[in-house]
Amino acid sequence: MKHKLLSILTLFAAFAALLSLPQVRVAAQAEPPPVVAIDAGHGGSEYGGAHYDKAGNVDLYEKTANLNVARLLAAKLRVVGYVVILTRASDSQVNVPATDRNGNGVVDTDDDLQARVDIANAAHADILVSLHHDSRTYDTAYNDATVYYCAECAHVADSMRLGQSISDALHDTYTLYGWQIPSRGIVPDKTLGKPSGHLYLLGPHNWRITRPSQMPGVLVEPLFLTNDYAYALETAPGGYDVMADAYYRGIVNYFSGK
Ligand SMILES: [Zn+2]
Repeated sequence: MKHKLLSILTLFAAFAALLSLPQVRVAAQAEPPPVVAIDAGHGGSEYGGAHYDKAGNVDLYEKTANLNVARLLAAKLRVVGYVVILTRASDSQVNVPATDRNGNGVVDTDDDLQARVDIANAAHADILVSLHHDSRTYDTAYNDATVYYCAECAHVADSMRLGQSISDALHDTYTLYGWQIPSRGIVPDKTLGKPSGHLYLLGPHNWRITRPSQMPGVLVEPLFLTNDYAYALETAPGGYDVMADAYYRGIVNYFSGK
């Protein structure tokens, strides 16, 4: 009898689980999908950093590596239902036609950065992730991964959590694939000593930044393009996919609250 009762209870539990499963799915679908603005740094005539071959010629511009990873990352996120906005999807500047976006009387790189921020703000993106690659032409042996955030902005707590999530994911993914790239973790953007003290994409309103980004954001330098070892890893078959996979894990973990 006891055995029979247990069987009935087990059947009931299984039935209840079956019933509750679709309800959980419906609840998950009712949540609006995360909106992610991905910014492939630089573009067009603005190359960013580069890797140089033995003869001193450029064999890869940073703008190209940034876009390669951004496209792969966007595809990965879209597969799981994220809404992805790319500030640029081709080898071009974003401020086209060239316009004085920040109204300071000159058209320069700041206007291109403002154009990127404007796109993220107009899309009401939940996060802004700017993809870059570091360079150090005077010390090509140097290599590490750094995630920058703004420590004096409204979304500092979420920006730090996003940054830490991406930093951890980069570390874990590099370890998984045997890429030996040390991590500097998350670092305030002000340490870069830009004219306004902040990166244009991340910083608060100030004399230089006219319309700041209105969501948590980070700018990532996942490796040094000037480093031969890192360059070889990334440009080997599947290399860009490893990078995109790391960003993907970091972003998904951020939204799932891990
Ligand atoms: Zn860059």
